Amino acid sequence: MEIKITKTATPSEMPPEEKLGFGKVFTDHMFIMDYESGRGWYDARIVPFGRISLHPASTVLHYGAEIFEGLKAYRRADGGVQLFRPMENVKRMNRSAERMSLPEIDENDLLEILTTFVKTEEKWVPRSFGTSLYLRPFLFGNDETLGVHAVHRATFMLIASPSGSYYAEGINPVGIMIESEDVRTVRGGTGYAKCGGNYAASTRAGERAVKKGYSQVLWLDGVERKYVEEVGAMNVMFKIGDEIVTPMLTGSILPGITRKSCIEVLKSMGYEVSERLLSVDELVSAMESGKLEEAWGCGTAAVVSPIGRLAYGDKEYVINNGKIGALTQKLYDVLTGIQWGKTDDPFGWVYPL
Ligand SMILES: *Cc1c(COP(=O)(O)O)cnc(C)c1O
Repeated sequence: MEIKITKTATPSEMPPEEKLGFGKVFTDHMFIMDYESGRGWYDARIVPFGRISLHPASTVLHYGAEIFEGLKAYRRADGGVQLFRPMENVKRMNRSAERMSLPEIDENDLLEILTTFVKTEEKWVPRSFGTSLYLRPFLFGNDETLGVHAVHRATFMLIASPSGSYYAEGINPVGIMIESEDVRTVRGGTGYAKCGGNYAASTRAGERAVKKGYSQVLWLDGVERKYVEEVGAMNVMFKIGDEIVTPMLTGSILPGITRKSCIEVLKSMGYEVSERLLSVDELVSAMESGKLEEAWGCGTAAVVSPIGRLAYGDKEYVINNGKIGALTQKLYDVLTGIQWGKTDDPFGWVYPL
């Protein structure tokens, strides 16, 4: 595909890496491409980063036609730059697009957009372990009418944000509250799609959890309010005795690439991993009997996030004495070793540029 590149006349400097935080600083450029039905995607371009202009009736502003992805470019120990399983993000973005009736993008084109853009912004990939260039592809409906109908015009963009280490202060287990009022999505809904609307619907419960002194909520399924689904915007895993349990992908759960990678690493280590329904009752009795040894969330941003406290109703349970478990730590070490190119990649997951 042809990508026209217009470089900025006023490049900026990367802030000190220890001051980066998450999603606050953006690189010098952004990628944009437009779509019209009958014409397909056109005008692929990398331009100086800046504001965009939308018609006030643009579909995305009224009817929420928006999907996104999140992945990172990592600085390897040897100075090179690599992505982690980028084709998984490409495929997932198209599955999300299909669910939201937004136009899909050719897989190879999308991969080429990602690599061309990261090469253009190479100097923005920070160097310290744990830091990365966070990539945010997103796609939205952009018809200029209030009529409710299939999208005829859309825009795809890619922006990037150099980000600090998620665990700058060390890996501290978080407190989580089981949410029994709000639900994130339902089977048949948009749970498996990475769309902005799922996040908008989740914010209220997350805020309430924070007010009660927890970092996030543990979501239950929307039909029976019985089965564990995800934690905040991460997938979730439990070590119950010798079994590793993670909720099966029923349609209301986002199929995380970190989740998939954790499962593959755990299986290669000889663990029994069950993707199955896990009821909150089973979870509570595992906590009461002491069989729940470890619990953690997993996602691209944190890699793994150990859960040290879990509240249900007016009871609170402490997991592994509130400390990170040995297996959670091991998973973190294996995945980050591969991602940051500190160790070999026996799975063939990294994609060097
Ligand atoms: C993105 C996301 C995840 C994690 O997916 P990764 O591919 O591992 O980053 C989990 N849950 C939700 C709701 C998400 O949006």
